[in-house]
Amino acid sequence: MPKPTIVAVDDDPGVSRAIVRDLRARYGADYRVMRATSGPEALAMLAELALRDRAVALVVSDQRMPQMTGIEMLDAVRRQSPDTKLLLLTAYADTDVAIKAINDIGLDYYMFKPWDPPEDRLYPVVDDLLSDWREDHPDLSSEVRVVGHLWSERSYETKMFLTRNHVPYHWLDVERDEEARRLLELAGVGVDDLPLVLVPDGEALHTPTTVELAHALGLRTQAQQPLYDLAIVGSGPSGLAAAVYAASEGLRTVVVERDAPGGQAGQSASIENYLGFPKGLSGADLTHRAVAQAARFGAETVLARDVVGLETRGPVRAVALDGSGEIEARSVLIATGVSYRRLQARGMEALGARGVYYGASAAEAVQCEGEEVYVVGAANSAGQAVLNFARHAKRVVLLVRGSRLDDTMSEYLVHRIRAADNIEVRLRTEVVAAHGEQHLEALTLADRETGTEQEVPASWLFVFIGASPRTDWLGEDVVRDTRGFVVTGPDLQLPEHTGRWPLGRSPYPLETSVPGVFAAGDVRLDSMKRVASAVGEGAMSVYLVHRYLATV
Ligand SMILES: Cc1cc2nc3c(=O)[nH]c(=O)nc-3n(C[C@H](O)[C@H](O)[C@H](O)COP(=O)(O)OP(=O)(O)OC[C@H]3O[C@@H](n4cnc5c(N)ncnc54)[C@H](O)[C@@H]3O)c2cc1C
Repeated sequence: MPKPTIVAVDDDPGVSRAIVRDLRARYGADYRVMRATSGPEALAMLAELALRDRAVALVVSDQRMPQMTGIEMLDAVRRQSPDTKLLLLTAYADTDVAIKAINDIGLDYYMFKPWDPPEDRLYPVVDDLLSDWREDHPDLSSEVRVVGHLWSERSYETKMFLTRNHVPYHWLDVERDEEARRLLELAGVGVDDLPLVLVPDGEALHTPTTVELAHALGLRTQAQQPLYDLAIVGSGPSGLAAAVYAASEGLRTVVVERDAPGGQAGQSASIENYLGFPKGLSGADLTHRAVAQAARFGAETVLARDVVGLETRGPVRAVALDGSGEIEARSVLIATGVSYRRLQARGMEALGARGVYYGASAAEAVQCEGEEVYVVGAANSAGQAVLNFARHAKRVVLLVRGSRLDDTMSEYLVHRIRAADNIEVRLRTEVVAAHGEQHLEALTLADRETGTEQEVPASWLFVFIGASPRTDWLGEDVVRDTRGFVVTGPDLQLPEHTGRWPLGRSPYPLETSVPGVFAAGDVRLDSMKRVASAVGEGAMSVYLVHRYLATV
């Protein structure tokens, strides 16, 4: 596989030589660094690279150039090669145009010239951009191979587990790839044993469970210590924030996650309202950073394990893991968020993961290259998904039950959806049936005003409708409302919960009806349901854990 390319564009020969020198010094081993001295020359170079099927990871351009400005040129690059990262080198006086370009052309970053010393000013930015680009192009570096059927539920779950855990893999469709059939023969595996997962230096896995897969990949599936100060259940933004703060403050901390770190936020193609990221950042990127940060401070992560019970043993709290095993800790944080509700329509359950999917990570859009995709939902999560699918799919149809999108979705998303040529919004429409033998083949849509029904061919349906917490495992002692949201702090002292708080002192904010067990993020009653608030509550819970531990 040839090295991916970085193109640097500047009309000033001195600056051009300097940027190429600095880029080559750090990235030359893994990337080919090329140089252009004008916008038209750079575009011709990129067209040539595209013809030769060469991947371009990054274009770094000066703004002020004759013939064509940097932004005009980067705009053309964005349209030709949507995944290439774009970095603008600019002068302070051009800050406003650079900020505008973030919205207008999806500029990834702008920085001021000069960039000396590159170790402090250039490399951290380029490192980030290239690591994001690598995440989106796992095939270029992947060694894990997954052989399976496109429409198999187990194959889908395997791919999603790998994607959400940031494990690059190479997908081989048994019905399309010659290489897939050769590997099956070599491994002596029949088509009923799929997916087949080949891990470098490991044995071939046939239809592995997520725990087996995690184990084979060297991910930790068991806790290492007999007693922790804090056990965190769930590694979405709130759980990860708690892990970072707790471990950094010296608490022995473990996080248990049934699926993959990141939670709902990990599925987001672009989180644009999180402080400090003016261009937005993908959920995968945020998760990747948070996981690394928590690990750096020494928090342990146990993956692919579902927490199924909570017990109080004097001053110790124990969480039970599915299958076998438990973790003991002096305090517990419930950070289990919410999960999408199922769409109630004829034939829908039977087609789960064979054309009908709940939520979607940004990476899933690539699977729908050139296809037609249906999305159900009217909130921001559906809006983000639609825009992400539109980058790859031929056409995206958004199905909305209500008569207006503006009531439920942020204005900036509605605006972009309206501006996209390949997105159709169908208001007052609901799915009443899904049809298909092996996988989804058609949907019956009903107009909620007239009652008229229409059957449309469809292979991909992604559902983003209201979410609810799954908290049954908490048992009787942890007070929840009728929908399962966990009641915390002052709310426990409302008349309807009289007698449920067992101590003389008042519960701390975020503390549940079991002292020493806290809840943060979307799972908590009346929480804000945003990344920033989940992160804030996760961080705040650690302060309260310290206060609680001081009392026992
Ligand atoms: C597609 C999408 C886009 C979004 N975009 C934005 C946005 O742009 N801006 C914004 O502010 N908000 C956004 N949100 C909302 C935001 O992601 C959530 O508010 C946030 O993720 C809540 O964090 P959390 O940690 O409380 O829970 P979650 O993110 O739901 O994480 C909970 C974690 O707990 C795990 N878990 C659950 N039960 C168990 C168990 N029993 N055992 C072990 N693990 C368990 C789950 O697998 C999950 O990983 C978006 C949500 C979605 C779905």
